[in-house]
Parts: sequence; structure tokens; C-alpha cells
Amino acid sequence: MNLYALLAARFPREADAPCLILPGGRRVSYAELESQSARYGALLAEAGLKPGDRVAAQVEKSAEALFLYLGCLRAGGVFLPLNPAYTRGEVAYFLDDAGPRLFVCDPQRMEEAQELAWAARLPLVHDLGSLGEGSLAAAAAQMPDSFDTLARADDDLASIVYTSGTTGRSKGAMLTHRNLAANARVLHQYWGFRPGDVLLHMLPTFHVHGLFVATHCALLNGSPMLFEPKFDAARALRLMQAATVFMGVPTYYVRLLQERGLTREAVSHMRLFISGSAPLLPETFNEFRERTGHTLLERYGMTEGGMFTSNPLEGERRIGTVGFPLPGTEVRVVDAADRPLPAGEIGHIQVRGDNVFDGYWQMPEKTQEEFTPEGFFRTGDMGRFDAEGYLAIIGRNKDLIITGGLNVYPKEIEEAIDALPGVAESAVIGLPHPDFGEAVTAVVVRAKGTGGPDAEAIIAELKGRIAGFKVPKAVHFVDDLPRNAMGKVQKNLLRQRFGA
Ligand code: AMP
Repeated sequence: MNLYALLAARFPREADAPCLILPGGRRVSYAELESQSARYGALLAEAGLKPGDRVAAQVEKSAEALFLYLGCLRAGGVFLPLNPAYTRGEVAYFLDDAGPRLFVCDPQRMEEAQELAWAARLPLVHDLGSLGEGSLAAAAAQMPDSFDTLARADDDLASIVYTSGTTGRSKGAMLTHRNLAANARVLHQYWGFRPGDVLLHMLPTFHVHGLFVATHCALLNGSPMLFEPKFDAARALRLMQAATVFMGVPTYYVRLLQERGLTREAVSHMRLFISGSAPLLPETFNEFRERTGHTLLERYGMTEGGMFTSNPLEGERRIGTVGFPLPGTEVRVVDAADRPLPAGEIGHIQVRGDNVFDGYWQMPEKTQEEFTPEGFFRTGDMGRFDAEGYLAIIGRNKDLIITGGLNVYPKEIEEAIDALPGVAESAVIGLPHPDFGEAVTAVVVRAKGTGGPDAEAIIAELKGRIAGFKVPKAVHFVDDLPRNAMGKVQKNLLRQRFGA
């Protein structure tokens, strides 16, 4: 079944039931969501989009961006969301790798987009701004307001979401209609979505958390979303007067706690606060409970399959854990030989289920490496089950840094730094940061005999090459990187030295 058809089957019957409530008071009803997504679907079909063709969108969050996503599903396309922070070089790689039929860019980057599209031989470029301006919405407005959603098989792709790569190359996680539908159904039920719910949606929509987890739950429930362009703690507090559910990364909760206005009264209308995408500190969990009377519900998942585990809605939400495997998802903790370990022992977390992705786009070998022969996906996270079956995430074995809920693989940043003149080599680590969780930090060895660049010069150079959230917050210089007997850089020593 087409994921859109599953969602639409639950849309409210009342034509004017609100779906999106936007800043400034604009409202989009569910009936409008249907007719607008029909226009976008019709536009894509008219542009020659065939089932399975990709539609890449590097746009700001907006109602129109959501119409585009849903229209793409309806027309049988594969939606490829891209973080607006990605630079020209990064986007060039995604376009070349995914070969979309249509690339939708921000109006301010139209010229660049056209150059990139020409180089990658993409047939069509449109622009779409945060207020719905640009050629895409104008073209969609000319289209009929009804469109027959294409039937799709469960295994057909619905989306490709790029995750930053361990090897420096980003990988496109292929998500099918089955994957997204399975997770949407389970989360909607597990988190007890009910009539009267209103979701405060402040997450970005280029990531699974905002685009799939949050949006699908609200749409399946036929609920309104207070659809905000970005997170803002003071504004969140005001909007919570009219909301019941909020989903955020730990950074959002840290920032909410910095607001004096965060009190029991301020959140008395809320029924549920969900946290994930990065580790939640016990201090945040405890302080939030003291200040608001609400216990944060922490869950765990990743791009490659949406959500895997969650603390329960009813019953104990256990601090320092990400809860139980979700219905339909098998989660196991194994040793280095893929043998399941008993509760209490730390090992590699592996997952299997209808929500777990289909593999990496055009990377069959990488895909094979990441799945066991029994079909379990190797998450790269380390964890431990306790005696009651709660899973705790203990660490990661993939060297990943999570900053403000966004993933950064050191390798990509190290390659960018090593390419700078006067640099011999570098190591990039994540150091604890009160706001971002972890701060990207570079440790650099300058080339012998050269003055080499200073920290400011390195940061300035990188800003033009990689997205802002990946640029190191600090650069330290050393004469040599510490290495073990195998020649591997001992990042733990660097973390100890520079984290102090
Ligand atoms: P992403 O693919 O961007 O969603 O990032 C997925 C990664 O985020 C996972 O592999 C984990 O390392 C991390 N992650 C997600 N949720 C949690 C959580 N609740 N606690 C700790 N780490 C998490």
C-alpha cells in the first residue's frame, strides 16, 4: 500500500479540520492537505516522474515542503530530503549519487542549483522558499486539485535519506513504503495518540525525526500540528499552552530548562514529551521532572529504520535507558561474533523488523557488511539490556559525533582538514558540550617546516566547504597524534586531554 493512502485513510472527515497551524496564523486544513498534495503529485507526474524516480529537496521547512513530500509519495516518487545547511560541494555529491528527476532548492540558491543540475545532468530544477514562494508552488497552483494516488508495493522505495558516512562518503538509506508505514503505525499506538492531540512540531523536516516520526504520528491521528520553522525555547513555552505532545532532541530540553518560564503551569496542557536522536543526560531527565512534573519519554532509533525502542507510555520510564523494543522490531545485543548476550552484558545492538531499511543506495557491499546473515542490521551502537528488558545505550562503535541531534562522522571532517595547505594530519573528536551534547573538536598536526594555518583560518576555510554544524567549534594543535600499536589514533586520549 502507498504510505500516503494509509495516512489519508485516517484524515478527519470534517473538511475544515486543521492540519497545519503556521506562525502568523495561516491554517491548512486536512482537505487542503489532500488537494495541495494532489497538485504536487500531478505536477510531478506531468514532469515525467516515473515510479521510483527521485525528487531531491533542499528547502526550508514549510507547508509547501510537506505538500511536496506527500505529492511525491502519491506520484510514486522517492523523496530525498537534504539539510539546507549542506554546501555546494556536499549537494553536488548527493545529486550525482541519487540522480533525481527534480531538484528543488531554496530561491537564494537557484543559480548554484542550476549549475549543479547541469553538471549532474538533472532534467528539472524548481525553487521553493520558506513562505511558499518560488517556481514550484506557482507551477503546482496550475495543476488540478485531485490526483489518484499510485498503488505501490510494500517493497517500493518511498524515501532515501543520506546519513553521514563512516568512510567520509555519505550513504543513502533506502526506506520503503513498508518501513515507514510499519513504524508510523507502531509509534502512533505506542505513544497513545488520541482525539484532541495537538503536536508542537519544531523539528527540522530534512531528518527522519521531524519528517517521519513526528509528522506521520500526527497525520495518522488526523491531528493538528503547530508547524514551526525551527526550535525556539521561549516560543515553544507559549505554544505549549495549546499543544499536547512535543518531540525534541536533548538540546531542546536543555534549552527549555534555561527558560525561567518552564513551570508546571506552563506545561499543564501537555500530556507527553518525547526525547531522542542523541543521549539524554540524567541531569536533564531529573531536572525536567522536578520543574514540570513530566517524565521525559526517551526512545532510540536511527535513519536506517526509524524508531527501534521506546520507554513506555504507561509504566516506568527508566532513567538512562531507551526502553523496550517496539512491537514488531527485534532488538538484540550481541558479541563480536554476532552471538546474543544475556541481560547485563554490553555488546553490539542489532535490529530486525518491518521498519528496518532496505540497504544503502547503490552500495551493495556496504549493505551486505551491515547486515548479519539472519537479516539483523548492525546499528553501530553499543548497549545492554537490564533484567527487566530496558535497553541502555552505552556508546557507539562507529566513531560518530552527535551535535545538537545531528550526526557528524569525524572521517569526513578529517579529510577536509587534511586537504588544507600546511596541515599534516588531523583527528576529529566530540567533546561534551552543555548545549549541543557534543561539540565537534579538531586536533591538528601542522606540516613540518611550515607555519601552517591557525585555528581561525582552519575554521574559516571549512565553513565554505562543509555544513556549519560539522565545522569544529575548536581547533587544538599537537606535534603528533597518539597512536596504538596498530597505528590507530587513540581518540580516547585526545578526548581525555582536551575534554578536561
Ligand atoms: P540518526 O540516524 O541521525 O537518527 O542518528 C542515529 C544515532 O543517534 C543512533 O545510531 C544513536 O547513536 C543515536 N541515538 C538516537 N537516539 C538515541 C538515544 N535516545 N540515546 C542515545 N543515542 C541515540
